[in-house]
Amino acid sequence: MIAYNLSCARGHEFEGWFQSGAAYDTQEAQHALACPICGDGQIQKAIMAPSVKGSVTKAKGRSEVATSDAHDKRQRFVSGMRKFIEENADYVGPRFPEEARKIHYGEVEERHIYGESTIAEAKELIEEGIDIAPVPSDPDDLN
Ligand SMILES: [Zn+2]
Repeated sequence: MIAYNLSCARGHEFEGWFQSGAAYDTQEAQHALACPICGDGQIQKAIMAPSVKGSVTKAKGRSEVATSDAHDKRQRFVSGMRKFIEENADYVGPRFPEEARKIHYGEVEERHIYGESTIAEAKELIEEGIDIAPVPSDPDDLN
């Protein structure tokens, strides 16, 4: 068996296992390969770093850059979302499940709220058809 890192035309990367290099060539020629993520049939071998020390270090450096970029994006997204919530929603703390229900059942005026609930409470709310979403924790809090 041989494993190839493959990628589709949309840039999804995945691993494919083949009986041999020739088996891969045959399947590729018959367009029998498809991306497991989007089903795209234009599959090609992703560029792999040869396993010599110098190249491995380089490849590692590249993936660290990619990871930290994704982290920055997530951090910006999370900060933006929290900012929106903090500016547009009332903080109700642990009374969140109670307040969310009151709003859902029209007992109080509809407004955005945020607060804390246990996972069990959140599940109950969802089961009652109440629209809630988890707020990602602020990455700055971790510092
Ligand atoms: Zn794809």
